[in-house]
Amino acid sequence: MQNKRPIITRFAPSPTGYLHIGGARTALFSALFARRHGGQFKLRIEDTDRARSTDDAVTAILDGMRWLGLDWDGEPVSQFARAERHREVVDALIARGAAFRCWCTPDEVEALRQTAFDEGRALRSPWRDRDPSEGPDTPFVVRFKAPDRDVALQDGVQGEVRWAAKEFDDLVLLRSDGAPTYNLAVVVDDHDMGVTHVIRGDDHLVNGGRQTQIYDALGWNIPHFAHIPLIHGPDGKKLSKRHGALGVEAYRDMGYLPEGLRNYLLRLGWSHGDKELFTDAEMVAAFDLAGLNKSPARLDFDKMASVNAFHMKRADSARLTDLLWARLETKPGLRLDETGRAWVRASMDTLKERAATLAELEDQVYFMLRLRPFTMEGKTAKALDEDALARLGRLSKALASHNDWSEPALGDALKAFAETEGVGFGKIGQPLRAAITGGAPAPDMSFVLAVLGRDEVLARLNDVI
Ligand code: GLU
Repeated sequence: MQNKRPIITRFAPSPTGYLHIGGARTALFSALFARRHGGQFKLRIEDTDRARSTDDAVTAILDGMRWLGLDWDGEPVSQFARAERHREVVDALIARGAAFRCWCTPDEVEALRQTAFDEGRALRSPWRDRDPSEGPDTPFVVRFKAPDRDVALQDGVQGEVRWAAKEFDDLVLLRSDGAPTYNLAVVVDDHDMGVTHVIRGDDHLVNGGRQTQIYDALGWNIPHFAHIPLIHGPDGKKLSKRHGALGVEAYRDMGYLPEGLRNYLLRLGWSHGDKELFTDAEMVAAFDLAGLNKSPARLDFDKMASVNAFHMKRADSARLTDLLWARLETKPGLRLDETGRAWVRASMDTLKERAATLAELEDQVYFMLRLRPFTMEGKTAKALDEDALARLGRLSKALASHNDWSEPALGDALKAFAETEGVGFGKIGQPLRAAITGGAPAPDMSFVLAVLGRDEVLARLNDVI
């Protein structure tokens, strides 16, 4: 009889800001692990801290996850909404003698903390062994009766991690206003959601130890933990805003594709031989906990761009056109009509080969969409001297009566024209490029002429002649 529990992972962000790049990576690993094993990936919003949690942050996190293609199973769970259940479990812990009411005042706690520190041990409340009927008629907290034995955690990344009993205080489980604390709520929620694997940042490793104690006290199965090293900045130090400690929407705005960012984040702290580039199907097929690295990965923007470039080339051209157009629509000084859009769409197969991000693609399409007439500067203005203008005048006539407006035919026509003129191709190409693009980056001239069409080409030549 098969009696294996289905794999269930979760992502449990606190809604105090955007979906941070590090959180996005944790979510990706958790989602991939669940998909790989045909399990479920759940989302829990850890909104117990009412002062710091905002609806805007919840929206930003959900939007970020949707954009990155990290779809979760079922409805997001609100931790705050489960407070009743948390209190019920705390009552059960009290009934088992594993938790107790503590009436210490803040000053008393401070004194206990100092003594514990001086004696090199953990905080122990005097109320752990007192009869609660002696408690005064004042607010109390509920504390965990931290067991006096070492704690061991088998971590999927860090291996076996051990703590001495003296490292864990009698932790507060319920505050005096009845609000559950983080470690208690996480244990109850992970248990109730059937979570089998907890993948999260190693800033939570010690919490893993505390949570292990609580699971034990409740007699519940402990999930598999995998605490992954946090992402470091390019300088090897803690990730700073300037170095990329941003929300995923900032990466979207920088022009990364969701699949590009997914692929980059996958490789940031996880490896699979030397393989760098992964399609989604390949990610799901390859992801395992064994490939998670023990040392922190550094953010590397060059690599992010090159991974994204791979996905730009693979992306559907119509989709890229839509994504690009949405970005361009907020920019002034561009020709954003149907004709402009048709030019962009027609050149996308070519242009996507040369752009690592959508932002680079914006530069690549600028030559098509800039408003006429162009202001010519520097080298571009120089290329349009008197001789060149006279030549462009003759070229304009030739093109006006040229029949076949396909790229190869235009290439032939330009070559034939250079021969008639008795000059090298550069003498034609340079001024032609200046007139047609105004000096903006653009592909091959015959390609450019073919995309823009005869009317536009003749109009741009006319502008300079
Ligand atoms: N809410 C915690 C955080 O955002 C994560 C808790 C967990 O994954 O157990 O850091």
